[in-house]
Amino acid sequence: MQHQPSAPPGRHVPGAPAPRARSRVRLASYTTLGLGGPARAFSEVASAQDVVDAVRSADTAGEPVLILGGGSNLVVADEGFDGTVVYVATRGIEIRRRRHSTAGGATAVLRVQAGEDWDALVARCVAEGLAGVECLAGIPGLAGATPIQNVGAYGQEVAETITTVRAFDRAAGEVVTLDGAACGFGYRTSRFKRTPGRFAVLEVTFELYPERLSRPIRYPELASALGVAAGQRAPLGEVRDAVLGLRRSKGMVLDPADPDTRSAGSFFTNPVLGPAQLAAFEEAVRRGHKLFTAKEENSCVSCHGDYGRKPVLRYDVWGTVAKPANLVEPHLKGGARPPDVYARVRFGIPAPRRAKS
Ligand SMILES: Cc1cc2nc3c(=O)[nH]c(=O)nc-3n(C[C@H](O)[C@H](O)[C@H](O)COP(=O)(O)OP(=O)(O)OC[C@H]3O[C@@H](n4cnc5c(N)ncnc54)[C@H](O)[C@@H]3O)c2cc1C
Repeated sequence: MQHQPSAPPGRHVPGAPAPRARSRVRLASYTTLGLGGPARAFSEVASAQDVVDAVRSADTAGEPVLILGGGSNLVVADEGFDGTVVYVATRGIEIRRRRHSTAGGATAVLRVQAGEDWDALVARCVAEGLAGVECLAGIPGLAGATPIQNVGAYGQEVAETITTVRAFDRAAGEVVTLDGAACGFGYRTSRFKRTPGRFAVLEVTFELYPERLSRPIRYPELASALGVAAGQRAPLGEVRDAVLGLRRSKGMVLDPADPDTRSAGSFFTNPVLGPAQLAAFEEAVRRGHKLFTAKEENSCVSCHGDYGRKPVLRYDVWGTVAKPANLVEPHLKGGARPPDVYARVRFGIPAPRRAKS
């Protein structure tokens, strides 16, 4: 099945005609949360040179700049953005197949413009038999944003396949090409994230493997869904489908036709633990699981089901339905205004009220 690019109802569809420079554009139509007031100035730019020109001229005028991709990692206030939003609508994917790479085997080199939809790119790679990004299916947003937080999921991250990033360096006032080392990738981070706003990403180059099988599956949950042992490979299409299936089961695939899928995704990162901390953590998980599944009246499991997947409806403090799985994963659900989202992120998930029915 062809997975549609993520966009909630009313959201701007990338590629749809839009005036190139406008004022007072409501950013709600450009964020997946559907939130956000107007931008003082809004430039939709369709070429890398136009991105550079738009950013440079705003910088020269001393205007604050917000580079906008798919708007899936942004909470914009009702007041909007008092500056210039540069909406990256650049298109283009160039694929060159190489018989021999530096690593020895055959590879395919993809030069991808920043405005390409990420999930559609993954679907295309899988369809064309190119391995290396198949576990990153279903992640909303545009290709140009993927290096920012080194997008990753289900045992893969873009740092493994990105060879270079072409970007406009606002500090130096010039276009630069950074190799993987210069991108300073780490777990959900990069040089771009550590120096916010300094670089406008124009183009990302990936080196993928022309193979019908995936890269080795590292993530135990995905391996089990595929019925393979960790470290084994599986057909690319099956891996993509399994990833999308797992993500859907956790409410992690945005569907424009279903407003209930609107979510901020998982905004927690995995802790990196040393051996002693890991042992303490595993013990805490064992105790938590024992409490959760205790065979007693009103036990957690009797309402929530194993792993909180039972569809018992509860309502959060804003009266929005909060599925137990959203609390377990945990996801951001509920609250219709930017301050609600901020409160949820800043102060965590409050205990939900009991179901109304
Ligand atoms: C339901 C859901 C699931 C998600 N799942 C995952 C996941 O599994 N793994 C994961 O890593 N992330 C995940 N995310 C987070 C998000 O999808 C990624 O961070 C994505 O890369 C953001 O892309 P975007 O184009 O929407 O960026 P935006 O939201 O438009 O921008 C995010 C930030 O990047 C900057 N930026 C965007 N484009 C550029 C550019 N070309 N140059 C410079 N700066 C730029 C913006 O200024 C902003 O600071 C999820 C989000 C949601 C809503």
